[in-house]
Amino acid sequence: MTTETLTFSDLALSAPVLKAVTKVGYEVPSPIQAAAIPALLAGKDIVGLAQTGTGKTAAFALPMLSQVDVTKSHTQILVLAPTRELAIQVAEAFQRYASEMSGFHVLPIYGGQDMRGQLRQLKRGAQVVVGTPGRVMDHLRRNSLDLSKLTNLVLDEADEMLRMGFIDDVSWILEHTPATRQTALFSATMPKEIRRVATTYLREPEEIRIANESKTGANIEQVYWMVSGTNKLDALTRILEVEPFDAIIMFVRTKTATVELAEKLEARGYSAAAINGDMNQQLRERTIERLKNKKLDILVATDVAARGIDVERVSHVINYDIPYDSEAYVHRIGRTGRAGRSGKAILFVAPREKRLLFAIEKATSQRIEAMKLPSGDTITAARVDQFFQGINEVLESDQDLSFFDDLLGNYCREKEIEPEKLAMVMAYLLQKDRPLQVKLADIKPDPVREKRERSDRGERSDRGERRSRGPEEGMKRFRIEVGRNHNARPGDIVGAIANEAGLQSRQIGQIKLFDTFSTLDLPNDMDAAMAQKIASIHVRGQVLSLSEDRGPARKGAGAPGGSFKPRNKKKKFANTK
Ligand code: AMP
Repeated sequence: MTTETLTFSDLALSAPVLKAVTKVGYEVPSPIQAAAIPALLAGKDIVGLAQTGTGKTAAFALPMLSQVDVTKSHTQILVLAPTRELAIQVAEAFQRYASEMSGFHVLPIYGGQDMRGQLRQLKRGAQVVVGTPGRVMDHLRRNSLDLSKLTNLVLDEADEMLRMGFIDDVSWILEHTPATRQTALFSATMPKEIRRVATTYLREPEEIRIANESKTGANIEQVYWMVSGTNKLDALTRILEVEPFDAIIMFVRTKTATVELAEKLEARGYSAAAINGDMNQQLRERTIERLKNKKLDILVATDVAARGIDVERVSHVINYDIPYDSEAYVHRIGRTGRAGRSGKAILFVAPREKRLLFAIEKATSQRIEAMKLPSGDTITAARVDQFFQGINEVLESDQDLSFFDDLLGNYCREKEIEPEKLAMVMAYLLQKDRPLQVKLADIKPDPVREKRERSDRGERSDRGERRSRGPEEGMKRFRIEVGRNHNARPGDIVGAIANEAGLQSRQIGQIKLFDTFSTLDLPNDMDAAMAQKIASIHVRGQVLSLSEDRGPARKGAGAPGGSFKPRNKKKKFANTK
C-alpha cells in the first residue's frame, strides 16, 4: 500500500467529519483517498481514475463535507451519478460521513421518483444533491434546483454516464453551474469523450491514478466467488467446511468488521481472532504468536494490521471484502504461500465490484478463476470423510475400548438387536447437532463466470460492446429503432413515452443509446396494447418499433434470460409507419 503511515487525522478534515470516519471504523485512507483528499482540500480540481470499491466516494465526500456550511441550506455540492442505485448509495454515504453535522441534509434525486416529493424536499433545502443527469436537468429547467451558489461538483462514474448517453446532459448541467466551482471527475476508464469533458470543464485538474503494477507468486492458487444468491457469511461457512486448511488470514475493510467476523466465526466453532490497528503492538504480536502455535486457526485482519505477517502455516488467504487496488491484493495474498509452500487465495467479489476484479487481473497479468460454492453433496462428502477419519483415528490408536465392549454387547443381547443397528443409532445421535447429510438450496449461477465460460468455449463475448447492467427486477429489456445517429437523447425517449403512451416515468428504466438503435427497460408485465402504443411513437422522426431485446447479434450475451435467438426472429409488437 502507498499509505504506509498516513492516517485520517493527518488529512486536515473537519472535526465532525473525522469523528464520523472514526465511528464508521475506517482504519486508514485508501490510496485514492490519500491522494484525492489533500488535493480537494487544497481547492484543486481532480480527475480520479478509480472504480467502485476503491473508496472513491469517501475520497470526494470527506473533503467536500469538511467545507460545507450547515448553517446555510442552499445546495453547495452536486454529485451526478449514472444510475438511481448509485445516486442512492452516494447519498447514503454522505449521510454516514455527515452523521456528526447537525443541520445537514442530502437529497438523492432520480428519474422515476415522485416529482412532487422531490420538489417539496428541494424547497426545504439540501446542502448536497446527488442526482442522475436527466432529473437534475429537469429541475434546473423548472427552476426548482438552484445551483447559483454551488461550490463543488462531482461527476461520478463518468464513463458509465457516457455509455448511458448522458454526456450532453452532463455538459449542459456543467454549463449551468458557477464557473468558480471545484470539480472532481471520477471514471474507471478514460475514453476521449471523458477526456474532452475534463479539459473543457475542469481547471488544471490533478490526475490521480493508483499505481497498478504488481506481481503475485505462482505458488498461490487464486480463485474468486461472485457474491450472488447467498450472503458472504454463509458462503464463507460453506467454503470452510470443504477447504482443507491449516491456518487462514481473512481480510475485511474495517476494524469493526474484524471483530464482528471473528466473533461470528467463533460462534460457528472456529478458533478465530481479530487483529486490527486499534490493538497495540504487543497484543498484535501475541495474536500472531497464537496463530503460529496453532492456538488459533483464523485471523481476521485489516490491511494495516496484517502487513508483513509471516506465518508458514497460513494455507489460505480469504479476501472477504475486496481490497481497494491490486497492490493491496498482492500484499494480502502474499501472506500465504510462505517459505516455498503452496497457498490458496479466495476473493469475494460483489457484482458492483466486478471491475476491481478485472483491474486486479490486469495488473497482476494473471487470471483469477471463478469458483463454485460447494454444493450440499460436497459438504456432505466432507463431513462423512471427517466422520470416518475420527473413527479411523480411534481404530488406529491403542485406545482401550473394553468398557464399551461389555456395555454395548450386553445392550444388544438384552434388546435383541444387531450391532449394525446399534451402530446406526449411535451414528445418528453423534451427528444430530451437525447432520452429516446437508441439503442446500442451489445457488444462482454467477453471471461473470457464465460469460467467461461462454467465451472460453469460443462464443462471442459482449465485453466492450454491450457491457451493461441487466434490467432491474420486474423490468425487461426492449429495443427501439432510434439511436445516437438520429440525435436521440434518453430524455427525448422518456418524455415521448411518458407523454404519448401515458407510462409513468417511474416505469421507464435504464436507457442505452447505440448508433442506430437503443435499449430500454420497461415493466415486464406491460400489456400488449401498451407495447403497441409505444411501438408506434415517433422520436426524432423515427418510429420506435418496440421489440424484445435479444442482445448483441446471435451468440452474444446481454439478453435477459440468456436467450440468444437470431435477431430476425425477434418478436415485433407493431410495424407501424
Ligand atoms: P466505494 O469505492 O466508494 O464504492 O467504496 C467501497 C467500500 O469501501 C464502501 O463500502 C466503503 O464503506 C468502504 N471504504 C471506503 N473507504 C474506506 C476506508 N478508508 N477504509 C475502509 N473501508 C472503506
